[in-house]
Amino acid sequence: MLSGKIALITGASRGIGYATARVFAQHGATVLLNGRSPETLTSRCHELKNTFGSDAAPFAYDVRDRTAISSAFSQIFKLYRRLDVLINNAGVLESALLGMITPQIIDSTINTNIVGPILHIQEAARLMSRNRSGSIINISSIMGTHGAEGQTAYAASKSAIVGMTLAAAKELAPKGIRVNAIAPGLIDTDMARQIAPERYQERLQSVKMGRIGAPEEVANAALFLASDLSSYITGQILGVDGGMVI
Ligand code: NAP
Repeated sequence: MLSGKIALITGASRGIGYATARVFAQHGATVLLNGRSPETLTSRCHELKNTFGSDAAPFAYDVRDRTAISSAFSQIFKLYRRLDVLINNAGVLESALLGMITPQIIDSTINTNIVGPILHIQEAARLMSRNRSGSIINISSIMGTHGAEGQTAYAASKSAIVGMTLAAAKELAPKGIRVNAIAPGLIDTDMARQIAPERYQERLQSVKMGRIGAPEEVANAALFLASDLSSYITGQILGVDGGMVI
């Protein structure tokens, strides 16, 4: 389904990002894995090559680092001359009630969850417009559309993802580039495991399907939005939440 496509996935060392890399590799994409640890990314790329025989390359940098993002895209242009899919997935969750939100939490949340994705969209749009085609998928959250106690900074950043998706979709549609977002609910990754036990149980009970989601279930939605199966879909926010109500 993604044969011959080049896909950059931020935050692909684990969780939803790595599950997406696996699903994309299985469907024939060349996957470019971002994260902060070169060793982890290299070992993930080996796993993908050995399992699926696919081409995979590590792109280790911090998504808060503007210069590093720029260099990564220059490198992508040099090596592949194109980019077909961008998954803006890297994100951080630092829960804190209003009175406990520190400047550090605000800075790290905004820089990782908002500024990083905008800079990636900017760079990807330049490369994708050369071929007048591409699919950008931003990972938001049900928190960004519904909010929850202790999540003001995180929810604000995930709402920003909704706004940037809608704005970029409008601007890039005439260039043949589609921009959509996925809003996961509660998904079984390190991020969900860090939620305080009482809150975790509350969240789980609010899922109408009665279970936590698997990272692969988000990855499959990303596969749909990345592929030509969604060729006429742009500016949409797709919930992947098992009927979660918060
Ligand atoms: P995770 O297991 O904590 O993984 C986070 C990923 O982001 C890791 O690969 C991490 O890489 C990367 N990352 C974090 N900060 C980075 C930075 N500054 N530069 C580069 N990479 C960075 O989280 P996840 O659950 O898979 O979350 C993925 C996305 O889904 C996030 O945007 C999250 O907000 C969203 N989401 C998750 C859930 C959920 O229930 N899990 C629900 C809704 C939305 P390192 O190896 O470098 O740390």
